[in-house]
Amino acid sequence: MTATNLPSEPEFEQAYKELASTLENSTLFQKKPEYRKALQVVSVPERVIQFRVVWEDDKGQVQINRGFRVQFNSALGPYKGGLRFHPSVNLSILKFLGFEQIFKNALTGLNMGGGKGGSDFDPKGKSDNEIRRFCVAFMTELCKHIGADTDVPAGDIGVTGREVGYMFGQYKKIRNQWEGVLTGKGGSWGGSLIRPEATGYGVVYYTEHMIKHATGGKESFAGKRVAISGSGNVAQYAALKVIELGGSVISLSDSQGALVLKGEEGSFTPEEINAIAAIKVERKQISELANTSAFSSKFKYIPGARPWTNIVGRIDVALPSATQNEVSGEEAKALIAAGCKFIAEGSNMGSTQEAIDVFEAHREANPGAAAIWYAPGKAANAGGVAVSGLEMAQNSARVNWTQEEVDNRLKGIMEDCFKNGLSTAKEYATPRR
Ligand code: NDP
Repeated sequence: MTATNLPSEPEFEQAYKELASTLENSTLFQKKPEYRKALQVVSVPERVIQFRVVWEDDKGQVQINRGFRVQFNSALGPYKGGLRFHPSVNLSILKFLGFEQIFKNALTGLNMGGGKGGSDFDPKGKSDNEIRRFCVAFMTELCKHIGADTDVPAGDIGVTGREVGYMFGQYKKIRNQWEGVLTGKGGSWGGSLIRPEATGYGVVYYTEHMIKHATGGKESFAGKRVAISGSGNVAQYAALKVIELGGSVISLSDSQGALVLKGEEGSFTPEEINAIAAIKVERKQISELANTSAFSSKFKYIPGARPWTNIVGRIDVALPSATQNEVSGEEAKALIAAGCKFIAEGSNMGSTQEAIDVFEAHREANPGAAAIWYAPGKAANAGGVAVSGLEMAQNSARVNWTQEEVDNRLKGIMEDCFKNGLSTAKEYATPRR
């Protein structure tokens, strides 16, 4: 059986095919034929754990969810990758995320294998107590399969420092061990500074290298109009860093709709982003803010939409930062038509295969200065797991690095990710005809 004959796993198949076709179109298998077998080996998880999570809601009713951990590959270190709590979670989605994680983690240069996990539990509409009881029940089973040298989960969609805290407490209680078994912990109990910011900041650091390289050092984020999707952890910190570097943030969104600037001038302000962050802690929708006078005078809210085709005026940079397959082929064309030259995924597999085909075809038809640059999540959003790796190192050594030290290491890792990708492309890529 190969990874491609599993029709019941569409997201995993998509991720596998995206990688396999890129490698087939390169000179890698000619230069290193042994990697063809290696690809077959790496596309089957070392272990998949699936379990029942039974918890009690506030009415005293028993609720049941599915829990998963995909321990995909431990060649480079303990399995490492987030936990996603979202009603859409299934094995296909976690296998795609775990598969991508292997290569992303390798690119950081740190000793981390690849894994991913989560549950079809929906945190929306739940009380804090219900979320705590769910996390405790989830960790009661998961704790048998993880450990600082075995498998180190972190957050992802629906899992913030709060959920990590509930789970860390339960792990300690059952295993009677304080160890760096989860990353994304709170700062006062073993978390690393900059971990909450790391994925969003990292995407922006990576994109800044892309912009500078493409323009021979002449341009940066300064003056750029940046469309961002999502309004969670990754989107919030990407937006704040864009503004810090002199760019304008012209959109954000959530699962219910998009919020875009009404005119061609201006930007979300840090205060507006912080207001959105505050309602997201309460698991609310941005539509609630969009209807307030402060927001409705400046922004247009489009229910059920993504930002890409709803922006007024030019787009220079797009940072998809919500979820998988959030840029379609048509939306990719609309981004290019709006002038977008840089697309970097904060989300995992943010672009559909059709969108990637549009970006690549455009790049081949427009070489040189007119070329657009597309960075897949495997490289562009590696900052989160990179700082998770740094959190593991600090936990093992029982030390805490300063904010500046962690941020500088993150910057160095994102620069290495960009340069490594570029030099590998020069060595192995063949233009598609
Ligand atoms: P959050 O849960 O903090 O935020 C997710 C955001 O995406 C929310 O705005 C959410 O809207 C929106 N969203 C979720 N599902 C959908 C959907 N089906 N359609 C449209 N919008 C949706 O998650 P993160 O910010 O942590 O993660 C965002 C992306 O970044 C994911 O793809 C994740 O895998 C990836 N990533 C995250 C890392 C991290 O460190 N957190 C590291 C690397 C990648 P709503 O609030 O309405 O639910």
